[in-house]
Amino acid sequence: MSQKYIILGAGPAGLSAALKLAEAGEKVTVIELENQVGGLCRSIRKNGYFFDLGGHRFITKDQNIQHSLEEIMGDEFVVRSRKSVIRLKGNFFSYPLDIKSVIKNLPLSFNIKAFLDYSLTTIKRKFFPQEDKTFEDWVVSRFGKTLYDLYFGPYSEKLWGIPPSDISADWASQRISLINLWDAFIRMFGKTKDEPKTYARRFYYPRRGCGQVFEMLADRITSLGGEIILNAKAKEIKMQGSSMEEIVFQNGKEEKSMKADFLISTIPLPDFMRSITPTVEENLLQVAKRMNYRSIKFLNLMLDKEQVTDNTWIYIPESEYLFFRIQEWRNWSPTVVPEGKSGVTLEIACNEGDEVWNASDEEIFKKCLEGIENIGLFKKEDVIDYFVLNVKHCYPIYTLDYAEKVETLVKYINTLDNAISIGRQGLYRYNNMDHSIKMGFMTAEHFLNGLPKQEIFDIATEKKIFDQ
Ligand SMILES: Cc1cc2nc3c(=O)[nH]c(=O)nc-3n(C[C@H](O)[C@H](O)[C@H](O)COP(=O)(O)OP(=O)(O)OC[C@H]3O[C@@H](n4cnc5c(N)ncnc54)[C@H](O)[C@@H]3O)c2cc1C
Repeated sequence: MSQKYIILGAGPAGLSAALKLAEAGEKVTVIELENQVGGLCRSIRKNGYFFDLGGHRFITKDQNIQHSLEEIMGDEFVVRSRKSVIRLKGNFFSYPLDIKSVIKNLPLSFNIKAFLDYSLTTIKRKFFPQEDKTFEDWVVSRFGKTLYDLYFGPYSEKLWGIPPSDISADWASQRISLINLWDAFIRMFGKTKDEPKTYARRFYYPRRGCGQVFEMLADRITSLGGEIILNAKAKEIKMQGSSMEEIVFQNGKEEKSMKADFLISTIPLPDFMRSITPTVEENLLQVAKRMNYRSIKFLNLMLDKEQVTDNTWIYIPESEYLFFRIQEWRNWSPTVVPEGKSGVTLEIACNEGDEVWNASDEEIFKKCLEGIENIGLFKKEDVIDYFVLNVKHCYPIYTLDYAEKVETLVKYINTLDNAISIGRQGLYRYNNMDHSIKMGFMTAEHFLNGLPKQEIFDIATEKKIFDQ
């Protein structure tokens, strides 16, 4: 006989779990806060333009996930190439930062300093290796202080809002493209023709934005008899001992409740812990309280201009600009903008409740347009329309003690009989979408066939994820 599952959140993790369970003949209900599916991977459509919440590339090493998505997406999944640059000191540097563009764009004195610093650092690391605890340690011991001060330090501080010395080295080791500067140096003199192996230049992207993947997945779930309730906020998880009994959620003006045999939560871990009744132990709530997420404001601009640059995105490390990255949608796919037009998104990192978060859309637009005009990309007259999206839970902040906090809460989740918390928000894990899809698939396996929970918790904990 089929069992009943409630899944909180219709992002990649929740929908992937729902799909596998529905395919196995189980009854699934997905409860989603927003008015559309996809979570952070949703795409917003406006006047013929599609905007992701920051560009989302699909890349995976997992052939099972690759084949599943290709089967669902068919011809809608297209291979695209990436071209991205760093805009710094009035110049555009290639990304990942390479020695060639540093030499080309910066004075000889800087280059000599950076070269000596990099060489000494490389020798020191070889003969006296040391454990890297912080983001700063990790980068300085690989690139040298001069290059760290030029780009990595300022960009990270802008993105995270805290000094890189307070960020765990895990984030750097998983995310920074370790393009070997020596390798780039040799390449410059034409000694090797191989592509740098560390740089993911190609990726999959749907014709109608990243969100299309999850809209198609949701269609398949409903065609199998699954239910997806939008505009519904999970408020309370009622427990009887270590068993989940019932979920209470707000659906528009109505408060509703639903019983189920199993619960899969993908909502932010601190929210999950706070929603449990009877209330969990105070020490767990205190840990949850200290788990913060970096928020982003997305300024989406519809332009009366065919193309601004040929870059998919541009990194902006300098603090004088409010935004840290610029995405140009035509270069992601010409099918996501009306003919002859381009769309651009500026990403602005902030914390919920701070000055930037509280700024009006007009203030954000004005300040960002000043920056864009200063860089010389386009003018205010090119903007047909714009809108701003505020997203609270974007990046789990990998503070130096983040792993301990996660471990404490995961220990608690491990004690639950019929409930689990997974996904980027649910495990406070810097997942890419393929990790969340994998967690969803494996969670279905856990409930259907007894796959150990720990195998799910271990996803995306490896030292290196993929190169940016
Ligand atoms: C700016 C940015 C760029 C990114 N770029 C890439 C990329 O290029 N490639 C890549 O692979 N990954 C990228 N990612 C990561 C990717 O977005 C995530 O890995 C993925 O969305 C995680 O899926 P998830 O289902 O775990 O979480 P989410 O997508 O966050 O889904 C969680 C869902 O839970 C819902 N929810 C929250 N609270 C409640 C509640 N109380 N009740 C009901 N529902 C609730 C949310 O609305 C959301 O729909 C990027 C992320 C960001 C922020």
